[in-house]
Amino acid sequence: MLDPWSYSETGDYSHLMDEFGIEVFDPDILPHSETQPRLFRERIVFGQRGFEHISRRIARSEPFAIMSGLMPSGRMHLGHKMVIDQILYLQGFGARVFVGIADLESYATRNMPLDKAREIAIGSYVRNYLALGIGKEGLEIYFQSRRKEVKDLALLLGKKVNLSTMRAIYGFNDQTNMGHMNAPLLQAGDILHPQIKLGPIPVVVPVGVDQDPHMRLCRDLASSFRTYNGTETSDGRIGVFVKVDEDVSGHLERAKVSLEAEGFLDFKMIPSYKALYVMGASRSDLVTIDEALARVEAEKGGYGFLPPASTYHRFIKGLTGEKMSSSKPETAIFLDDLPDDAASKLMKAITGGRETAEQQRKEGGRPDICSVFDTMMFHTVKEEKEIQRIRSECLSGERLCGQCKREAAEHMRELLTDLKSRRDETEHLLNLYISEE
Ligand code: SF4
Repeated sequence: MLDPWSYSETGDYSHLMDEFGIEVFDPDILPHSETQPRLFRERIVFGQRGFEHISRRIARSEPFAIMSGLMPSGRMHLGHKMVIDQILYLQGFGARVFVGIADLESYATRNMPLDKAREIAIGSYVRNYLALGIGKEGLEIYFQSRRKEVKDLALLLGKKVNLSTMRAIYGFNDQTNMGHMNAPLLQAGDILHPQIKLGPIPVVVPVGVDQDPHMRLCRDLASSFRTYNGTETSDGRIGVFVKVDEDVSGHLERAKVSLEAEGFLDFKMIPSYKALYVMGASRSDLVTIDEALARVEAEKGGYGFLPPASTYHRFIKGLTGEKMSSSKPETAIFLDDLPDDAASKLMKAITGGRETAEQQRKEGGRPDICSVFDTMMFHTVKEEKEIQRIRSECLSGERLCGQCKREAAEHMRELLTDLKSRRDETEHLLNLYISEE
């Protein structure tokens, strides 16, 4: 079981992928460009569910949305920034961006008063989000406590899940308060509500791997509200199955018409099986078929929720070697740290260096386990040639940690100084993008 409120393992997640069916994320499905963050190429983003809906939209320059949430319970650090870096890249393909501030969840699970959550969310997170550049057309930042669609959806979705499922996914017990039990439904409401506003549209949620239980629950809930199920059958055919008992022939006919519009021409309809087989279609057509069926459902007054996609990133090691965490300030560089304070934290960070300079010159350092190298790799050194030079100098022993840390600290000073001035420059955007409903 993965606990989304306390999981902190770093390192190898292959057991989670095997156990929970997370698929490998292949960065080659995204356009290669200078703007593609290293997070993708260096496999920090390592897993996904349902990303084929998103990659298809990107390839066709068609709309999609990004949903991101923030739990206002501590200060924003470099680990949180990595989500924004992913959003910025995907936003470059024209995605609508929804940022939900999980103030109700932080009240239920961390006992955080709503007014305090608001203060932290805006002061420590939203100001940095805008400084990092996500303030563009199509951005909406909202509070869970104020968005009616999210709260209504949480109630409606609750009809489709029972206590034993919630216990199995989250390990809830008799002492778990009802607010906490409701928090995953609110999250599902967050993730699905863009499709209430925009109609069926692929939505991707970039998250840490610890959030996968929410994604599994939400994808199941989205499916449970669907009328159609398009799937590959055991004999390799592609079938569309109606999940309700009323007006089966009507549903099958409407599915057929919508798929004809997508270019499918040959069908076998068997109303007694509630089935429409799409002859000549293959598994790779399922995304097209599912999106067409979702539109039919929405046109007939249903929800037509497409299952939300997700990407999963690794937790980045903190400065002390454990997960970077707001609750352990010594592990993290916060985006509002004074540049000199951040620099001195870096000077004390755990590195991948050897015990002595002599040993390091002889055996080389280990950049791949070095938290200082990570800060340069993922946050401060933009030039590919430059980061490769640092890596190879470290590996060869030419580079020693003292000087390297001084360079990394200087880079970090520049980043945080620049971010501070951009926070000031973008302050006026707060009113533009924060919605009070
Ligand atoms: Fe890390 Fe730099 Fe030391 Fe290599 S030389 S282990 S990159 S601090």
